[in-house]
Amino acid sequence: MESTVAQKLEALLNLQKIDSRLDAIFKVRGALPEEVQDLEDEIIGYETRLDKFNTDLVTLEDDIKRFKDNIKESEKLIKKYQEQQMNVRNNREYDAITKELELQDLEIQVSKKKIGESQARIETKNLEVDELKGILSERKKDLDNKKSELDTIVSESENDESKLKTDRDKALKKIEERLSKSYTKIRTNAKNGLAVVMVKRGACGGCFNVVPPQRQADIREKKKLIVCEHCGRIFAGVEDEIEEEVTKKKRSRA
Ligand SMILES: [Zn+2]
Repeated sequence: MESTVAQKLEALLNLQKIDSRLDAIFKVRGALPEEVQDLEDEIIGYETRLDKFNTDLVTLEDDIKRFKDNIKESEKLIKKYQEQQMNVRNNREYDAITKELELQDLEIQVSKKKIGESQARIETKNLEVDELKGILSERKKDLDNKKSELDTIVSESENDESKLKTDRDKALKKIEERLSKSYTKIRTNAKNGLAVVMVKRGACGGCFNVVPPQRQADIREKKKLIVCEHCGRIFAGVEDEIEEEVTKKKRSRA
């Protein structure tokens, strides 16, 4: 499929028009899609933290249960030792049992202290969980609002968008790959998304630098692809000033 330069330029300009309309649609959506994504990520982060807190709470409760079991165990031993102490045969046995009793008493103190510490940590953790739940429900509300805002905007333009995307696929097929690649490259680097422009009032339609008359004549001829020497955008043609003036006069009269 060999096409003339004029046909190539026409195809490029057509693609540019479609892309500019798509750009306008995405501009209306603005930062909303990104904001929705950010909120979704943030919520996942908070939910992960909440899961971790809940696991911590379970561990702390388990600890307390274990300490309480230890205390029960010590109390049983103490009871046993006290009974043994009633039946000792000498002082040496009596002293040995007293030492055991002291030891178990100490064990109980340690366990009680650890239970207190765990309970304090549970209280702190519960406060953190409450705070986190508050933040989480706020963020979820934000997300719902932003999502419905975005859904509204998207639904208003989704028909246009899908039609333009179909048009774009068709338009792209008419352009050789090498050319569409440089088109994409120029467009990505251009702030206004324009890769293909017309010469308007003697200036580049993309960067507004003056295009010399001889160059304009070359552009009009469409014998070869000419790019702006300032910004690198592709010139699709020269817009007729007279025609534009006439349209303007017509408009001002209306
Ligand atoms: Zn330019």
